[in-house]
Amino acid sequence: MCAIFGLVGNPEASKLTYLGLHALQHRGQEGAGIVSTHQQRPYALKKRGLVGDVFSSAELAELPGHHAIGHTRYSTAGGDAACNLQPFLLRTAQGWIAVAHNGNLTNASVLMRRLEQMGSIFQSTADTEVIIHLMARTGEPQLEKALTAALAQVEGAYSLLVMDQNKLIAVRDPHGFRPLVMGRLQGKPVFASETTAFDLMGAKYEREIAPGEMVIVDLKEQEPLRSFFPFHAIAPRKCVFEHVYFARPDSHVFGAGVYETRKALGKQLAQEQPASGADMVIPVPDSGVYAAIGYSEAAQIPFEMGIIRSHYMGRTFIEPSQTIRDFGVKLKLNPVSGFLHGKKVVVVDDSLVRGTTSKKLIRHLRDAGVAEVHLRISAPPTKHPCFYGIDTPTQKELLASHQTIDQIRNYIGADSLGYLSLKGLLEVCSRKSEEGFCHACFSGEYPTVQAHAALST
Ligand code: 5GP
Ligand code: SF4
Ligand code: MG
Repeated sequence: MCAIFGLVGNPEASKLTYLGLHALQHRGQEGAGIVSTHQQRPYALKKRGLVGDVFSSAELAELPGHHAIGHTRYSTAGGDAACNLQPFLLRTAQGWIAVAHNGNLTNASVLMRRLEQMGSIFQSTADTEVIIHLMARTGEPQLEKALTAALAQVEGAYSLLVMDQNKLIAVRDPHGFRPLVMGRLQGKPVFASETTAFDLMGAKYEREIAPGEMVIVDLKEQEPLRSFFPFHAIAPRKCVFEHVYFARPDSHVFGAGVYETRKALGKQLAQEQPASGADMVIPVPDSGVYAAIGYSEAAQIPFEMGIIRSHYMGRTFIEPSQTIRDFGVKLKLNPVSGFLHGKKVVVVDDSLVRGTTSKKLIRHLRDAGVAEVHLRISAPPTKHPCFYGIDTPTQKELLASHQTIDQIRNYIGADSLGYLSLKGLLEVCSRKSEEGFCHACFSGEYPTVQAHAALST
């Protein structure tokens, strides 16, 4: 997963992009980059690490101009090499093009092979670079025309910010897998993966970029913005997992508040999977907090912060090896021992993926003297990998792909285990946003053809 941010017509464009990326850091911690433009020339800075750590103010001062786009990376396609950091900046016969991409193209490797056979030389292994090569081959000087022709050949998920010396374009794939919103900062257009980036700088949220929509900003004139829908209209398939886990709770995605949605998921979970006789509802912080509040309210069982999270380490899910991940859980989540002794607790988390977190945590809860552990998950069992930009493990690492709910309960050592139903999840999310969600990681119903092909290999 990644984040994108961009704006035009502001003398502090690169500093504001830095702040925007800072607010979107939860979407990718591997590296970040900014491309600004001044007098039609591009200036780029990309580094591995966290936004706040890697960019100095001296470096930002070397990114002049009133227009900029930025990216934070969480490697899905292409691995974590430094050459895969974004925005990509490539020179073509038509001039330079910068691209920041959130999502994952499902036919990238086929296209990459074809382009290489035709003589293209790739600088990276990331799917995003394919888009620029396809654009360059059109020979089309108009950015929106080159981009439309390139995107007509790709499949999968993309929310993109694309800039050249004349224009900045924001575009979302026809399914609208990944979010992308537009706002105004001092009257000028600003784009971000999530609204929380706007809150930070006092920009006003205007609307979502619609699935399949392309919004074009002329860098010189800026107004009026042009918007069009260059692709065949298809049913939207917005990533439901953004609501469950990925987006920041203070954001609006797909037109709905994430905090309220997660609380409503917790309420629905309490109705579907009650735990009568429990003394308290405790979340697995931070991601499980909002659903736990909803569960506690609906079940009328007191909410307690029975597990304390240390904020001084990264997310354990991202760590590459199993040994480090196991160790990470101990460092990160610690039960409040005296307080929990002899209690029957409902533990609420947003998802269960490999089961590593829950297994370790439940052992620690037992060590702390907890009498009963009833684990409740505010999403259905994660059974299938994602091909649209979320870095889920392979299918066999997904516990629910090959174990029944009772086997999982036994494996993690809980007294009971209950998941939210897919129907419940979709009902809650559709009540909040318009309909049309992707739920392939839960249901196996992939909205694109290539994803099916990838699965069967
Ligand atoms: P597990 O231990 O089952 O592998 O992981 C479950 C935990 O990972 C949950 O607390 C959930 O919040 C978190 N999680 C779920 N999906 C993702 C993801 O895509 N990335 C990261 N970093 N964490 C995730
Ligand atoms: Fe989102 Fe799951 Fe669909 Fe991936 S498969 S886009 S995580 S709902
Ligand atoms: Mg979590």
